[in-house]
Amino acid sequence: MKTIFAPWRMAYMNQGHSAGCIFCDHPGRGVSAETLTIFLGERAFVLLNRFPYTSGHLMVVPFRHVATPVALEPGEWAEMGALVQRSVRALEATYRPQGFNIGMNVGRAGGAGIEDHCHMHVVPRWFGDNNFVPVVGDTRVIPEALEVTHQRLVAAFADQDAVEEVR
Ligand SMILES: [Zn+2]
Repeated sequence: MKTIFAPWRMAYMNQGHSAGCIFCDHPGRGVSAETLTIFLGERAFVLLNRFPYTSGHLMVVPFRHVATPVALEPGEWAEMGALVQRSVRALEATYRPQGFNIGMNVGRAGGAGIEDHCHMHVVPRWFGDNNFVPVVGDTRVIPEALEVTHQRLVAAFADQDAVEEVR
């Protein structure tokens, strides 16, 4: 079966992240358009994928540098689950996708782009969104600039906080 989580892998590898782990570096820099961090939780955070499969493709990442979900503590895993749910709600409110792929690639054979720091992908899907994939290889048409997507999703997460405060 062909994995849909392959296309950005080459891009990550070409960027040579061996010097440091971006998932360890980014949370300390706060919610930022530069790092594409959308939301910081207590033990995990949400950021946009710089090489998105579709507009709004984001990732939920534990703060701790662990390669496999088996190494996560129950509280970390629970917060990641809650952040996946919040991400789905934010994406639904912002982009009205017709479906989602939610999942984790573990290990090189599993297709992980950053294999030392596990992370969950949340990919909004629309019918026909993958029509161009096999033809153009690594090149992909993303209809919205990452900075704009970042801004909209930061706002969507903030809206959720506002709703929770009213309750
Ligand atoms: Zn890391």
